[in-house]
This record gives sequence, structure tokens and C-alpha cells, in this order.
Amino acid sequence: MGALLAMALGGAGPAAALGRVVLARLQPGVYVASAANAEVALANAGEVVPTLVHVTGAGVLVVDPGPHLAWGNGLLAAIRAVTPEPVRWVVNTHAHPENVLANAAFARLRPRPAFLASAATAGLMRQRCEACLARLSAQLGPAAMRGTRIVLPEPGLRHGDRLQTGATAWEVQVHAGAHSAADTVLYAPRRRLLCVGGLAYRDRVPEMQEASLQGWRRALRAVSALPADIVVGTAPGTPAQTLAPTLAYLDALAGGVAAALEAGGDAARVLSPAAAGPYRHWRYFASRHPLNVQHAWRELEDLWMNGEPLA
Ligand SMILES: [Zn+2]
Repeated sequence: MGALLAMALGGAGPAAALGRVVLARLQPGVYVASAANAEVALANAGEVVPTLVHVTGAGVLVVDPGPHLAWGNGLLAAIRAVTPEPVRWVVNTHAHPENVLANAAFARLRPRPAFLASAATAGLMRQRCEACLARLSAQLGPAAMRGTRIVLPEPGLRHGDRLQTGATAWEVQVHAGAHSAADTVLYAPRRRLLCVGGLAYRDRVPEMQEASLQGWRRALRAVSALPADIVVGTAPGTPAQTLAPTLAYLDALAGGVAAALEAGGDAARVLSPAAAGPYRHWRYFASRHPLNVQHAWRELEDLWMNGEPLA
């Protein structure tokens, strides 16, 4: 791994900066926006998604543009600082507001880029973006969300598709019922580059409000089989820094809850920092892990009552 890549993955060494959004270079033509590795909060204005920017030679690909118009505009300025190529593709990996509401900044471009998502994500956004925008405005304040309007993607990405962006061919995977109701993964084999949206976390306890624990574990096992050097999830990193620990946490959560169910139902054991081992040092352990135990408990108890395997 090159020194520049190591620096970018470590969160240091911004390669291009303009306005508030900083792009760090991961590979030739591939950048990631520096975002807080945090849950959405007033203090970070919802700027928590490390948007992937790929300058392809035939236009720019943007994956998960971010939470609001202001971030999207900053991102556009940062893109302009590295290339005059038009933005041609905007991909929404899943229907969480902090990932998709900055579509607004790109919809004003002429020619208009193609906005792409899975059918499930496009459908969910159509159903609930209005409510998500209202909720984010309430949480971050109307000033942070000023000018942000809903721009819906086309349901153009299917599992097994190939998305060609310039010289880069992406394999598309769509995982139903994982981190969210549907999570799209983009994989560029020749670049050994994986874009996994909300499926991978780094040094932070995953958010599971809309997750299926079992589905997420299946998705991560499938994605982990792809040869990759760089993963862009809720934070960029190597597979060992992102995919592996996220899967290990979810496996430990499932294992702990399954054992407690078998032993007659003592959730306290799963909750204890000792049982949570290395994960107790992750961000939001105290606030997020107990919620995840409850979530896992509800899901696995149903399976267990129906006599289904919990492994
Ligand atoms: Zn998400």
C-alpha cells in the first residue's frame, strides 16, 4: 500500500481542499470526502458520510452525496478543484437521509447526472424522504438543511448488474435486509475497491435501527469474499479495519444473544462490557450497544421460537 493511500485511510493528508469539504485521494482518480466518523448530530451538521468521488476520464461518479444541499455544494466545489469533468452518475447506496439528501446539489447541474439506486432504495426514498427531511431538519435545525429538496433516483441498479463509469467497471450487489431494507454495494475488481455504504463501520458501534442482524451478517460474508484493498463504508479503510471488525461485532452480538436465549434469557450477560470484549472501546458503545442487544434479541428470539438456526 502506498504512503499516500495509508495517509488517506488514516484520516490525514487531505489532497484537495476548497470550502468546507475536503477530498482525500485514495487511488489515482478516486477520492473520499472527509466526514465525521460519527452518528448524525447537531455538532457535525449531519456530515458523517465519506462520499466517494471517482474521476473516470469520461465524467465523475459520486456515491452517497451526503446529508444536505450545503454539503453537496461544498463537495461540488471540491470536485471542481480536481477536475473539470461533468458529474455524470450519482449513486444512492441506501435510503438513509444523511446519505442521499445532498442529491439536491447535483440535480441543478446541466447536463443533469443520472441518479441511480436499487428499486428497493428508490421506492423507499419515494415513500419516506419527505418525513426523513423533516426529521433531519428538526434534528440539525432549518439552517443546516436550507434549500435541500428531495431528488429521487431511478431504480436502475440490480444485483448482478455491471455499471460502467469510464474505464472502471463496477459489479453491483444489492443486499435486501442488511444494514437497511436494501444496501447496494459497488465493487471495482481491477481497482480492488469496494463501496459498501452503511454495511461497514470502523472503530464505531454500528447503527441497527432498520437492520436485520442475520441479513447484515450474510451480506458482509458475501462482500468479504471479494478481493479488495480499500473499502469505503461509513469510514474509509482496509477490509481488516472495516469489514472484518464489523462482521466480528455482529457475529459476537448474535452469538451472545443466542447463548443467552439458550441459557434461559439473561440479556445482562450480553450487555456487559466484559462480554463485549474489544468492542467496548468503540465509539458509542455505552449508548448504541444496549440498543443493538435489544434489536438482536427481538430478531433472534423470533427465529429461536420457530426453531430456526441462529448461527
Ligand atoms: Zn445507513
